[in-house]
Amino acid sequence: MNNKVAIIGAGMVGSTTAFSIMLDGMASSISLIDVNEQKAEGEALDLCHGMQFAKSTKIYAGSDYSLVKDAQVIVITAGIAQKPGEKRTDLLEANVEIFKQIIPNILKYNKDAILLIVTNPVDVMTYVAYKLSGFPSCRVFGSGTVLDSARFRFLLGKHFHVSPKDVTAYILGEHGESEFAWWSRVVIGGIGLNKFSDYDTKKLQEIFNRVKNSANEVIEKKGATYYAIALVISKIVRAILQDQPRVFSVSTILNNYMGVSDIALSIPTIMRREGICAVFPVDFDKEELENFKHSSSKIERLISGIKF
Ligand code: NAD
Repeated sequence: MNNKVAIIGAGMVGSTTAFSIMLDGMASSISLIDVNEQKAEGEALDLCHGMQFAKSTKIYAGSDYSLVKDAQVIVITAGIAQKPGEKRTDLLEANVEIFKQIIPNILKYNKDAILLIVTNPVDVMTYVAYKLSGFPSCRVFGSGTVLDSARFRFLLGKHFHVSPKDVTAYILGEHGESEFAWWSRVVIGGIGLNKFSDYDTKKLQEIFNRVKNSANEVIEKKGATYYAIALVISKIVRAILQDQPRVFSVSTILNNYMGVSDIALSIPTIMRREGICAVFPVDFDKEELENFKHSSSKIERLISGIKF
């Protein structure tokens, strides 16, 4: 089985992702590629020095795209990151230009991989990677709102005094300002939130607002977010490599989906080794459907401004 993973961008997110994948032990090799060759090599050396304590994984690094050859999954984290006060969409123009360099370089060596996009604004960048690569839509998707959903589960678990593992809750739509909570399907151990004594609609709204502002909160305090997103990526990569069928709210290219076509945004999606294998129409209530439409029109607008 080919379990090779390549990561483009060896910055905070890329290097922490490599660390997380290495600890998880499911990849046979990890290649770190960065325009800053020294940085990629330094991160790889640091990882190799810890190999005695992890499952054996081959680590390669450099700026040469031949490193993506034969990779089953290529994770793209390269690009400009948010600074305090910036929105994800402020990064769009610069990161599109970076993808115009990266994607053709990948295509020279690998036309069969799955592209997992992390660079922000992740929904639009997923669409850009889809267009520039020409890959089928099942093989190009973004980390989307998997991280936001994890933040949501963490905060709900804290409020209701249960483990986030027992909370089923999704944030959907854009990974950004227009994202929304799929409140009508939030359950803890199968039980609706209004059955719990801590149920308080004002507190729940505060939780959602905090989820939406989570990245800013972390960036204000420590400059960047990387641990949680690295764990998200390694779980998605594990699902792919081990053909696990897992459901994740990844940013998915949608066509004829609930009135929406030719954009990427997050909905619950089933992943397998070949990529996305099923997308289901979602049973939204009236307000959720409006939120979905609002989020999709925003992404449509952003995509229409891109010059390919
Ligand atoms: P970073 O600045 O630490 O790392 C970015 C890396 O990309 C740098 O090492 C840089 O040299 C490299 N790079 C730039 N241009 C390149 C090119 N043309 N080819 C190859 N490498 C190139 O930033 P970070 O904190 O690692 O964040 C990376 C991206 O991930 C940002 O866009 C950030 O907003 C995004 N991010 C997304 C999520 C999410 O949930 N989707 C979460 C956190 C961060």
